Amino acid sequence: MQSTLTHLECSRCRRPYSHEQLINLCFCGGPLLARYDLHAAARTLTPWFRPDGGEPLRSLRPTTMWRYRELLPPGEPVSLGEGLTPLLHVRRLGDRLGLSKLFIKDEGLNPTGSFKARGLSAAVTRARALGAETVAIPTAGNAGGALAAYAAQAGLRCVVVMPADTPSANVLECRAFGAEVIQLDGLISDCGRYVAEQARRRNWFEVTTLKEPYRIEGKKTMGLELFEQLGRLPDVIIYPAGGGVGLIGMWKAFDELEAMGCISPDRPRMVAVQAAGCAPVVEAFEKGGESCEFWEHAHTIASGLRVPKPLGDFLMLAAIRSSSGTAVAVSDAEMLRAACELAAREGIFASPEGAATVAAACHLKEQGWLNAQETVVLFNTGSGYKYSEAWTQALREQPAESPAGRTPQGSGT
Ligand SMILES: *Cc1c(COP(=O)(O)O)cnc(C)c1O
Repeated sequence: MQSTLTHLECSRCRRPYSHEQLINLCFCGGPLLARYDLHAAARTLTPWFRPDGGEPLRSLRPTTMWRYRELLPPGEPVSLGEGLTPLLHVRRLGDRLGLSKLFIKDEGLNPTGSFKARGLSAAVTRARALGAETVAIPTAGNAGGALAAYAAQAGLRCVVVMPADTPSANVLECRAFGAEVIQLDGLISDCGRYVAEQARRRNWFEVTTLKEPYRIEGKKTMGLELFEQLGRLPDVIIYPAGGGVGLIGMWKAFDELEAMGCISPDRPRMVAVQAAGCAPVVEAFEKGGESCEFWEHAHTIASGLRVPKPLGDFLMLAAIRSSSGTAVAVSDAEMLRAACELAAREGIFASPEGAATVAAACHLKEQGWLNAQETVVLFNTGSGYKYSEAWTQALREQPAESPAGRTPQGSGT
């Protein structure tokens, strides 16, 4: 059981690169993707994935995302127990929406409370193996906390650059993990420019979204887990897209599963959910564009979705289109209402980003885009516990009504 990584390849121009160097983007500016010897990976992973023959093998593997070792980068894993999060059948919410096979993949249970842990566990593992000393990141919040935690465990120095209005829990956790925290007046795109400038002068290794090849590898394990947990892929995946790493990563995982002979060419319909105050992917999707325009004056309480011009926009749009998926925008008020409903009906305290997928599922069911019998997976990408500013505002605007129309399980309403 070892990594079968063979090289890196540009997602735009296909130029190959060695994986034995610290590297960011291709010369052409395109993000680099990790390539594996999938034939070798299949020898140990495919029998393991098969529901009949897999059990004895399965129990020998770690109960983290590193159980898919063949399809992750080499190096001694820097791990805090990320991945293998629960896939919960949410019956009460499903009854309300008219979806009998509605699931939530609860990524809020990852170390540091978001799925950013997966990507940064993979990125820090590889960066340490290749000799990086300082890792730096521009972040809307959760990625900074996750990088700071993994850098602490790896013994690397860490610099986190975030907008001044980032949720306070994200600032506190980064400080607690010992990172240098820089707060700028501006958006994540401004923080990204700052990190890029300083990185060259101060010998920081940038682990900016998609500017580094392995965060996507960590996040793709969500797609491998769906396959392991359901025994097949769902019909629809509804995902709150900021930079789009999770969506692109899962799409890559499905290609790898197909190449290993685990699945057919059929794919789940991929849905990107964005905030009405920052919806460049929705706009590009509706206009038929292949990439996004910069979204001016981006604003939303869902800090993870405040990405005005994602670097991987063209990869996200390609995955959405070729899967016959769609892109949906929801308002902040809808996210907050959906979060309260999800908490009261199912006991899941989601981030506003995760709650956005509940609001989107509701719209798509009403429009007839989802049908009642389909297996639909919503991604709660982060825990609600870090967003106290947003909840304070929501509860102020939503005075005590009965808790989300709660009815006992199975009462038929
Ligand atoms: C970062 C983040 C997102 C967006 O993730 P991408 O994969 O970059 O699109 C969504 N939700 C939460 C909670 C986040 O922290």
